[in-house]
Amino acid sequence: MVYCSKCGKENEGNASYCQNCGTRIKPKENKSGISKLINWKAIIIGIVTYFVVALVLELFVYIYGINYTFNIGYTPLPYIFIMSITGIFTGFFSGKEYLNGVINSMIIAVFYSIIYGLLSGFLYYLFLSLILLGVFGLIGGLIGVIIYRKYNNYNLTD
Ligand SMILES: [Zn+2]
Repeated sequence: MVYCSKCGKENEGNASYCQNCGTRIKPKENKSGISKLINWKAIIIGIVTYFVVALVLELFVYIYGINYTFNIGYTPLPYIFIMSITGIFTGFFSGKEYLNGVINSMIIAVFYSIIYGLLSGFLYYLFLSLILLGVFGLIGGLIGVIIYRKYNNYNLTD
């Protein structure tokens, strides 16, 4: 059942016009709550971004022979950096809703935390990753949405 926005009369769920006053009834949003928040394009872009930045960092360390085992999965510093960049990209491609940017970014944080957990074989790393990637993914996601809003001339609080 849908209610007419003008006269308030109850109409059939599939009605296009109000039976009472003839006002056009807005088509129902065909996306449900969860799927409205998730943007697969943004998530895939984020996952690729994370992978590429991690790879570039690893290559950099390898080529310049930096005497510091980066071991991307196990040292907090580089992957905080990678997740921040990833969050910004993900947030930007999530659109103008802060919540979308954060949720999409969080999904990537969880994804890579699980990978780190599996690769390391330690539950400890999974939780460490969840916390660190989660926090920096959240910050990055928000920054990404802010950049999107600036870029598309939205107000910060629209
Ligand atoms: Zn009506």
